[in-house]
Amino acid sequence: MNKHQYLPIDFHCHSTYSDGYYNVATVLQKVKDNGGKYIALTDHDTTKGITEARQVAKKLDLEFVAGVEISVTWNNSLVHILGLGVDENNAELNQVLQEMRSNRILRGQKISANLEKIGIYGALEGALSYCANPENLSRTHFSHWLVAKEHAKPGKAFEKYLAPGKAGYVSQEWLSLEKAVKLITNAGGVAAIAHPSRYKFTRTKLIKLIDEFMSYGGIGIEVISSSHTPKDIEDIAALCRIKNMYATMGSDFHTEESYRTIKVGVNRELPAGLMPIYEKLKLEIDISKLAAEFNQAQSIKEYI
Ligand code: AMP
Ligand code: MN
Ligand code: MN
Ligand code: MN
Repeated sequence: MNKHQYLPIDFHCHSTYSDGYYNVATVLQKVKDNGGKYIALTDHDTTKGITEARQVAKKLDLEFVAGVEISVTWNNSLVHILGLGVDENNAELNQVLQEMRSNRILRGQKISANLEKIGIYGALEGALSYCANPENLSRTHFSHWLVAKEHAKPGKAFEKYLAPGKAGYVSQEWLSLEKAVKLITNAGGVAAIAHPSRYKFTRTKLIKLIDEFMSYGGIGIEVISSSHTPKDIEDIAALCRIKNMYATMGSDFHTEESYRTIKVGVNRELPAGLMPIYEKLKLEIDISKLAAEFNQAQSIKEYI
């Protein structure tokens, strides 16, 4: 028996429009197969998948939320900011995201050159072979190739080559925190700090990030994330309560991974006493009814 209830809600996942492994139709079919109901597609620095995803979601009877995950450089660290409920046709948002993506191929060339210096050849072509569109080229695509070529074990390519300080790393100046939050808000969305525990900031630094983020109009924080341990969830939930933020939940699904279990479309329930972000997303969710229906359907599935 699981200690926590699970809910068919997921406000964070990726497709081949960024560094996800599956196309939109496949990701959403997985959501459906897992019993998911409310889903946001949040590809990195792009809204290009939203129109297609909305159509597929409708066919599958899923409740769809347009999303984006924006790369931000804050105090020399990479921070991800989720925009939920954005207008995917917002001109300013799309123009800024387009500029950001145009730098990705250039950075990819530099990553590849760095890897050559340590005797790893063909990384750019290799990474591109995993990438549906070169403007979305991500370190994730390099990691797939590095693992396939056995330069790294599954789940280890970042710590071996791609993380800051490693041989393949190339630093990149992404958007400012202020710009990202304001773009999202101006596009009608709500901004949330993605997977806060992943940054390994001290509590003081995390609070500084939160305070700055909120001063620009950000309101949300991702409490439930596949990057979070149970202790991380409790710590972030406590901050969420203190700061009066809205809590969000996301699988951050990119693909099935041998080293961790993630179900796209499904997340653990929020800890008690938090304001859920869907209250800000114009979604009518009767949470106890949803939970009861979902958990009953799941137990029937498991029984069969
Ligand atoms: P990029 O936007 O190209 O800098 O790539 C960032 C992406 O790499 C993130 O969105 C994650 O999907 C992935 N990533 C970052 N750090 C790790 C890690 N330590 N292990 C696995 N994936 C990671
Ligand atoms: Mn990613
Ligand atoms: Mn992220
Ligand atoms: Mn993500």
